[in-house]
Amino acid sequence: MKLDFDCVVVGAGIAGMTAAIYLKRSNLNVLILDNDAPGGLLNKISVVENYPGFTSISGPDLAYKIYEQVNNLGIEIRYGKVLSIKNHQVITDLETITTNKIILAIGRKARKLDNTNNLKNVSYCALCDANLYKDKIVAIVGYSNSALEEALYLSDICRKVIIIGRGTNFKGEDSLISKVKNKDNIDINLDCNIKSLESDNNILNKIITDKGEFIVDGMFVAIGYEPNTDFLDNIVKDNGYIIVDDKMKTNIDYIFACGDIIKKDVYQLTTAVGEATIAAINVKKEIK
Ligand SMILES: Cc1cc2nc3c(=O)[nH]c(=O)nc-3n(C[C@H](O)[C@H](O)[C@H](O)COP(=O)(O)OP(=O)(O)OC[C@H]3O[C@@H](n4cnc5c(N)ncnc54)[C@H](O)[C@@H]3O)c2cc1C
Repeated sequence: MKLDFDCVVVGAGIAGMTAAIYLKRSNLNVLILDNDAPGGLLNKISVVENYPGFTSISGPDLAYKIYEQVNNLGIEIRYGKVLSIKNHQVITDLETITTNKIILAIGRKARKLDNTNNLKNVSYCALCDANLYKDKIVAIVGYSNSALEEALYLSDICRKVIIIGRGTNFKGEDSLISKVKNKDNIDINLDCNIKSLESDNNILNKIITDKGEFIVDGMFVAIGYEPNTDFLDNIVKDNGYIIVDDKMKTNIDYIFACGDIIKKDVYQLTTAVGEATIAAINVKKEIK
């Protein structure tokens, strides 16, 4: 079989771009595929304060810096949604590509809150949509790191931010928790469960919980993430997360995986970068 590439990296988030940088610098013929803009989740993070080298940087700025590095190395990025992988072939909605190795760095998507599909003022990205709610009242549903970060970002733009979290305590970094607690316009409601949502013309206006009712102009949801790996039928997974060994290799000999899509304990930028490095170096070792 004639191979188009030594390695195809699926996903242009921080994991995919890092893997591609290592592959290209080790003189391999590499392609990145993504069905969205380079950067992945980074494009939805308002501020990153725990990535070495930057005291504080916005997610899109960090994404752009990595993209510039990818671009300067002449790494090819093609648009395409990968629909299946079979026998060294990557099948996208646009083409079929043959490759020696594959690195999957496809991340995961935001978990949806039930009964919100038809509501126009429900968002899963504060960075993308906060400006629509300038000086307005919004709720943020969730109680983990991403909910805390989104609440802080919203609190600088919106009049009031109501946190609604099911947990009895926040599940996040202490520094974020204390910043949230010190904000005058953030109203914290923990151990609080949503009972129902009231709307008018598909515009949500009231959230009814077991702790009371909240009148809102909009609602942001940050209740976690889930992997989207149904299309990878022969790869061993746990709850949708890809199982890899210490070389970041899956059960299929030519397929590696890294970043948020793998089964692991810590889902952070630094861990994604580390796993991408390991995957790329092991791909290189196998190709020689
Ligand atoms: C609100 C929020 C704040 C965060 N803040 C921090 C923080 O401050 N510090 C920190 O360390 N971490 C933070 N994180 C976590 C961090 O963003 C992730 O761990 C990291 O971005 C994961 O990178 P990734 O490359 O694995 O996946 P992603 O960035 O999700 O990239 C996956 C890419 O794959 C593409 N893709 C998916 N499926 C396909 C397909 N079938 N075909 C083609 N392409 C596909 C997607 O379009 C996407 O571009 C935060 C996360 C969120 C949500």
